[in-house]
Amino acid sequence: MLKIRDYEFWFVAGSQHLYGEEQLKNVARDAEDIVNKLNNSGNLPYKVVCKGVMTTADGITQFMKDINYNDNVAGVITWMHTFSPAKNWIRGTKLLQKPLLHLATQYLNKIPYNTIDFDYMNLNQSAHGDREYGYINARLGIKNKIVYGFWGDEDVQEEIAHWEDVAVAYNESFHIKVCRFGDTMRNVAVTEGDKIEAQIKLGWTVDYYGVGDLVAEIQEVRAADIEKEYQQLQQDYILTPGKNTLDKFEHSVRIQLKQYLGIKNFLEKGNYTAFCTNFEDLWGLEQLPGLAAQLLMRDGYGFGAEGDWKTAALTRLLKIMAHNDRTVFMEDYTLDLRKGHEAILGAHMLEVDSTIASDKPRVEVHPLDIGDKEAPARLVFTGSEGDAVDVTLVDYRDGFRMISYPVDCHKPEAETPNLPIAKQLWTPKVGLKAGAKAWIQAGGGHHTVLSFRLKEEQIHDLAEMFGISLVEIC
Ligand code: MN
Repeated sequence: MLKIRDYEFWFVAGSQHLYGEEQLKNVARDAEDIVNKLNNSGNLPYKVVCKGVMTTADGITQFMKDINYNDNVAGVITWMHTFSPAKNWIRGTKLLQKPLLHLATQYLNKIPYNTIDFDYMNLNQSAHGDREYGYINARLGIKNKIVYGFWGDEDVQEEIAHWEDVAVAYNESFHIKVCRFGDTMRNVAVTEGDKIEAQIKLGWTVDYYGVGDLVAEIQEVRAADIEKEYQQLQQDYILTPGKNTLDKFEHSVRIQLKQYLGIKNFLEKGNYTAFCTNFEDLWGLEQLPGLAAQLLMRDGYGFGAEGDWKTAALTRLLKIMAHNDRTVFMEDYTLDLRKGHEAILGAHMLEVDSTIASDKPRVEVHPLDIGDKEAPARLVFTGSEGDAVDVTLVDYRDGFRMISYPVDCHKPEAETPNLPIAKQLWTPKVGLKAGAKAWIQAGGGHHTVLSFRLKEEQIHDLAEMFGISLVEIC
């Protein structure tokens, strides 16, 4: 996985001076204890840092400014241990430019009937303190996340974990740079879009390079480096020459490895973390990058075929959110419409990433009818089974829209001996008919990101953070 910053989240408890200094010390102690236990639970992907207790408007305002200016802080988690007059939060919250999670919880998960007194009640006022605070966030229109429940429970910690991943992806989105090798495919509509709007709304930089610039970089790749990758490939995958002569097979694989290293060097030099290619625009390249693109996606790069820079950036974004776990560029390819079998077979010409493979991928070389180039090497494998989400991003004159649905993934019912590519079968959870119809109605294209790791709720939270519309088909 391509490295991202070592993010942390700041945690703060809201309170006030009405109950005396002793109670404020108790609030601080409890907040510290919660944070320590959250960090030690092993359930959170990023560290939480306890920043104590906030009681005044000036303190809260300064706190929020500090968060904005600290690049290592991905967001803030707030908790109202006692009643915290929410007018104090207005100024700071309005200035906050990072994701906000309101943890509506209580230090103890029970009512201590035998010992409870007014001191306990004053100290443990989350029940109404969280409502006072929530009112201001709602009134300000802050798109904050609310996680409700006992902080020590696994499901609550899991909700915090999922949100942390979304918040980190949001922060990282402003560093995503897409390198377009060539333009979009001729005549195609869904791969177009407003690159300026993408930078304004989503933080993405989208740059064009002529394929000739890439070819020059690929020529610089040293034979020794290709050889090293070839050795590695033999360990990671099953090399299957099939009907090819060994010479032809190895030649094709080496061409792809040379492209892999050349593209990677090109991207690294420009700090690009996503890229697209276009089979109509392969000037000077011997093959369409197939295995090369698959290996780069495995490494964590975003990718979109046919010049689809939106899906390239979305793939990179969701890979960050998913820690590059089973989250891949995908395309709706062909359908099974028989009753009881309804499903979409997802694939691409070549470029599906092997992190969703359920078997050990084979490296194969076959001719490609499209692009008019040499027979390219590619990874061939079968996808996985389980729950997943499928997401796309479309561009309208009035802004971007995300479209997503939860899906059931299965393995194809049979082998496809004449279609030697990577394959994944899935059915929308609402059913193929209802799901696909709603997708088409909303204008969703055929290029998507499919993830076994991410949850529909995370896609919802992500769209909320960006302030873009989302059509959820569920
Ligand atoms: Mn395509």
